[in-house]
Amino acid sequence: MTTSSQSQNCPVCGVTIANNEVVQFANGSTGTRARLYARVCQYAKKPDCINQDKNLIGEVLKDDGFLEAPQINFDS
Ligand SMILES: [Zn+2]
Repeated sequence: MTTSSQSQNCPVCGVTIANNEVVQFANGSTGTRARLYARVCQYAKKPDCINQDKNLIGEVLKDDGFLEAPQINFDS
């Protein structure tokens, strides 16, 4: 086992937060703590959720909360 001791797993939300603060979602996409919170954790509201610290989450952008946002890639 070579699991990084610094990556965290949220058993409630089923995601992994790597030591570089990148959130790995169960569907394979990645995001920020803010995005994770906006999309999952704020609804979970379970004490076991590891992503409840507002200081770590930071500012949740409006875009982070759009569950049904189309997959538009502006990366050009
Ligand atoms: Zn969580």
